[in-house]
Amino acid sequence: MNYAARLARLRAALEENDLDSLLLTHLPNIHYLCGFTGSAAALLVTDSGSILFTDGRYRTQAREEVSAAHIVIVSKSPPVAAAEWLAAHRSGSKAVSLGIEPDSMTVALRDRLASVLKGKARLRSAPPLVERARMVKDAAEIQRIRRAVDVGASLFPIACQKIRPGASEVAVAAAMEFEARCAGAEAMSFPTILASGKRSAIVHGRASLARIPRRGFVVCDFGVILADYCSDRTRTVHVGRPSADARQFYAAVLEAQQAAIAAVRPGATAAEVDGAARRVLRQRKLARYFTHSTGHGLGLEIHELPRLAKGQTQKLEPGMVITIEPGAYVPGKWGVRIEDVVLVTSSGCEVLTPSDKELVII
Ligand code: ZN
Ligand code: ZN
Repeated sequence: MNYAARLARLRAALEENDLDSLLLTHLPNIHYLCGFTGSAAALLVTDSGSILFTDGRYRTQAREEVSAAHIVIVSKSPPVAAAEWLAAHRSGSKAVSLGIEPDSMTVALRDRLASVLKGKARLRSAPPLVERARMVKDAAEIQRIRRAVDVGASLFPIACQKIRPGASEVAVAAAMEFEARCAGAEAMSFPTILASGKRSAIVHGRASLARIPRRGFVVCDFGVILADYCSDRTRTVHVGRPSADARQFYAAVLEAQQAAIAAVRPGATAAEVDGAARRVLRQRKLARYFTHSTGHGLGLEIHELPRLAKGQTQKLEPGMVITIEPGAYVPGKWGVRIEDVVLVTSSGCEVLTPSDKELVII
């Protein structure tokens, strides 16, 4: 990963936004900019260089991971140490304008920084500059995401083996997660969702102690983190013979997913892709059961920009990696979701680890 180039691009963005410096506190942004993966850090980016503040637990790790920034080991809160450093080292008597990341800072921390920097720097909530840069993946990132999605996809056959009437949802999830770890995954990218029978109508139905019923849908939504990058995939299977209604319901969601995938191309807005899925479900009179957005970016984090939802004007660009995951959920009855990760290419998109999506009946 070319961290020096990422930091240089960020410095250019700071200038465009009239910021002298930026104090990064969102750990995935710090990871993206300098490679540090520890759990306590602040990264101060100024026009003259970048400094990573972390504590003694990470002395060795920081030296191994970080080359594009200076490392300062501190024995207090890293962002407070960064503010003190800035107060001591600023040049000239004019107050500098320091950007902060409002989404990853408590009010208490902001107050603390303001008191340390009183008269020396003005704090300003910065726009999501790093999140925007992270939307478009470079070749090395795309390669890692491909591998993560491959390993993620390999878990679905395990789910199909383990899903049986009477088996608990957690037992199925456990088998998938064991396989993920054996394949080298650092972790799951979120708690595995395994929602069977009536629970399939719960959008984020984490695997529970519930037993899989003799008949009904099972929504399986799962992902791994492999070499820092996330995967995300949903498949819905049916236990027992599906009714004609259930088949139609599944077919409508699949059609919506395919319509959204077909709408993914450079220049299309995130809202247009979302609208493509929603239109199909509206035609099937299922629009009111589609209660979430069509997808999201993913990379170092499971949910990144862009958001594929109503009103989102962000245009898609080659190199963006997004999920396409429409679903429909009838409370107390059933739910279906189908999700793939797609890469926006120069001419359209590529579904990563494509597979047959006809309804699997167990
Ligand atoms: Zn998912
Ligand atoms: Zn997702």
